[in-house]
Amino acid sequence: MDLLDTLTAKGLRGEIPTREEALAVLATSDDELLDVVAAAGKVRRRWFGRRVKLNYLVNLKSGLCPEDCSYCSQRLGSKAEILKYTWLKPDQAADAARAGVAGGAKRVCLVASGRGPTDRDIDRVTDTMAAIKEADPQVEICVCLGLLSDNQAERLKAAGADAYNHNLNTSEGTYGDITTTHTYADRVDTVQKAHGAGLSACSGLIAGMGESDEDLVDVVFALRELGSDSVPVNFLIPFEGTPLAKEWNLTPQRCLRILAMVRFVNPDTEVRIAGGREVHLRSMQPLGLHIANSIFLGDYLTSEGQAGQADLDMIKDAGFEVEGAGEATLPRHRADVAAAAAGSCGTAASACGGGGCGPCGGHAHTPEAEAAPAAQAPTAEGAADELRSDLVKVRRRGAGTELAPNA
Ligand code: SF4
Repeated sequence: MDLLDTLTAKGLRGEIPTREEALAVLATSDDELLDVVAAAGKVRRRWFGRRVKLNYLVNLKSGLCPEDCSYCSQRLGSKAEILKYTWLKPDQAADAARAGVAGGAKRVCLVASGRGPTDRDIDRVTDTMAAIKEADPQVEICVCLGLLSDNQAERLKAAGADAYNHNLNTSEGTYGDITTTHTYADRVDTVQKAHGAGLSACSGLIAGMGESDEDLVDVVFALRELGSDSVPVNFLIPFEGTPLAKEWNLTPQRCLRILAMVRFVNPDTEVRIAGGREVHLRSMQPLGLHIANSIFLGDYLTSEGQAGQADLDMIKDAGFEVEGAGEATLPRHRADVAAAAAGSCGTAASACGGGGCGPCGGHAHTPEAEAAPAAQAPTAEGAADELRSDLVKVRRRGAGTELAPNA
């Protein structure tokens, strides 16, 4: 049986591939791309039908972070000309959230820059969640506030949060090259704290930071092991004024291969195309919907996405449908596993997803990979010829401005 038949059969049974098979997906050629998308699409439809979950980001506190995550426009020393503001008031955040829900979002992702919240910050977010749920009790809320201290996850859960987002971002082996002010282990600890408190765990990655195929596979398997219910796949938005501004390493084809690999390793988990969708997939975005079952509606934290209406039109034109508020995201068996891991009932865990603090290679050694043409996966040097900084548009509307949100 060839690679794609094997991966499809495994995915339809909810089984995950071997590490070698995952690497081989990343090493497939451009000639095989539509076959890769079709195989991942079968797995996607088995567990998620044609539904697309919409998530809406509200940046509660923007910029001025003391941490040094290289990919982030809000980092210490960032020269990116992003919006900078401190905590939105609960009614301001609720107004922004309402616009996203009116546009079809099922989940609102409340994000704040910073190393982690103080207990006073947890109070602020508690008030904000109350304001949002007062307007729409059904809306799911995912909170993303950085590293959590003891008992903060429990407080967020008690206040009505459904999920907590904290991305691993990259492999353990390369984490220290990306960030020095906290560790990979710190990030794992926060995901475990959130999960242990009964919050649905949302944790994903950022591709395009110069990592190898092995790094990508490492982080995706680590996310699976951690029990992330939702895996946001960010494609680096290389902001001018950040250390990774020149890292234009991705092509639309490479992004689709990465999404397919993430889907095969997470057949029955929410896979979300997150930051960088428009910048890197460009006109290939609709093909991404055949693999991922979730996207962000409208704008990102510090950059603008395409118009919310364009997102909705794309979903409809590609033959998909927006997931409704009453529909469970995860398949039942997966929601039960998530609930058991969290030590809670299945209700909250079946409604999972999340946002993100931040924008959210090599080759395999298998016979399949060795037989594949080596024309894909551009190197950093190769891609540097094709800087597309014109595609990165700093967010100037929505939360923290006088202008209406894009939803
Ligand atoms: S990703 Fe989060 S912690 Fe890191 S610099 Fe950006 S806002 Fe700060």
